[in-house]
Amino acid sequence: LQQHNFKIYNPTIIVGYKIKKGDIMDIYFYNTLTRKKEKFIPIEENKVKMYSCGPTVYKDATIGNMRTNLFQDTLRRTLEYNGYEVKQVMNITDVGHLVSDGDEGEDKILKSAREEHKTPLEIADYYTKLFFRDLERLNVETPEIICKATDHIKEMLEMVKKIMKNGYAYETSTAIYFDVSKLDKYGMLSGINLDEQKAGARVDVDPEKRNPYDFALWIKAPKEHLMKWDSPWGPSYPGWHIECSAMSTKYLGEEFDIHTGGIDLIPTHHENEIAQNIGACGKIPAHYWLHGEYLLIDGGKMSKSLGNVYLLDDIINRGYEPLVYRLFNFSCHYRGKLNFTWEGIQSASISLERLREGYQKHLLGNTNVSDEEIVDLENRFKQAINDDLNMPLAMSVVWEAVRYQVQSPKIAKLLEKFDTVLGIEITKQKQKQEIPQEILELVEQRKIARAEKNWAKSDELRDLILSKGYSLKAVSYTHLRAHETGAY
Ligand code: AMP
Ligand code: ZN
Repeated sequence: LQQHNFKIYNPTIIVGYKIKKGDIMDIYFYNTLTRKKEKFIPIEENKVKMYSCGPTVYKDATIGNMRTNLFQDTLRRTLEYNGYEVKQVMNITDVGHLVSDGDEGEDKILKSAREEHKTPLEIADYYTKLFFRDLERLNVETPEIICKATDHIKEMLEMVKKIMKNGYAYETSTAIYFDVSKLDKYGMLSGINLDEQKAGARVDVDPEKRNPYDFALWIKAPKEHLMKWDSPWGPSYPGWHIECSAMSTKYLGEEFDIHTGGIDLIPTHHENEIAQNIGACGKIPAHYWLHGEYLLIDGGKMSKSLGNVYLLDDIINRGYEPLVYRLFNFSCHYRGKLNFTWEGIQSASISLERLREGYQKHLLGNTNVSDEEIVDLENRFKQAINDDLNMPLAMSVVWEAVRYQVQSPKIAKLLEKFDTVLGIEITKQKQKQEIPQEILELVEQRKIARAEKNWAKSDELRDLILSKGYSLKAVSYTHLRAHETGAY
């Protein structure tokens, strides 16, 4: 236990090594806001209110974006495993996210619309559908509330007015800016020091901005701008950050439990969300801020210019089931950099097959395993997921169960329970492939040749079978043998 820097959090419930079934264990999360691992205490008993920053729907979601979604899904599944009722809100950014995460450049949706000769609505609808199709293929549970920015212009505008009224914002000829100098402390999430930043500040595009870190709450629209709404400041549109403050307040209240996103959101988007909420109601919206690390490709950044942007479709097109990518993600803690390689995917694919085969063997087993042993595995799995979603450790317990020295339906049941968190469809059976009669006959002839020690004929038949595309048969045969001897 110590080796894993791992402890049993609630020693009072332990009797020797036996932990009673259904005992409650505490959950610990690393909170970006406090830079500490903290015990999770929800605002309301047995309920969790959680806000997850969703996609900007202007392009295909990459497997990097999916990593962040898988982390968020593992989080909600872990909470559900612990008996919490989760209310998760996810936004869809369909306006206001400019090409640069600062307030520069074109709106991402408008840029795609221009490039793809479509309307902004068509672009947003198209990529939103693809995004949710990928989530479904990865078994990501659907958030209770999915909300589009363009459906909440009224709420956003109200919030900006409130921030203005409270003295935290000012108007320039181009926008309404949040004045970060009005806050006691701007930068609490990323730990930036404004005084240091000021000294090295870049030249700002808008000379009317009072501080380099001031950000746009609302942007005045040029005449030809496609997406704009009436406001006290004329035809205009929201900045990127205000949507999340307005929608989280609307659906979860001024204070809720957990806020999630990728690490890139810490220094801009989430920092600004906190500023806006303080400006509007004086409160930091979420108690726990959880951020997922990036997925790397061959050790580096995924980028269009390097030609290494991968989509879930690329994994599927290479013959892998989408859930292979889900399992691949459990090889790394969500706060660690995960390196994507095709070798890694191939090995996750083999693992997925073996986990499912292992489950089937337990299902058909007839050996009894004591309740204590089951409870021990169950508790160690729960301790791992409750320890800031330690999935690599949780997977080691899953493998221990799969490779248990005897086969028992009790372990199969336990694996089904684990799968409510894993979501890898462990009960799924490999589809039996129909083998044509011709091939079966060749296999029979080869058996006879081997029995007669006619090796030349046996080799000839083997090559003939291979030439008809049945090399896979040979692989699964070896695999079956390994399986039978328990050598996986
Ligand atoms: P984007 O559509 O590029 O703004 O990305 C949406 C979200 O996906 C970002 O805010 C990130 O949190 C997350 N994301 C983007 N790229 C990666 C990556 N390579 N690994 C993990 N998460 C990512
Ligand atoms: Zn957001």
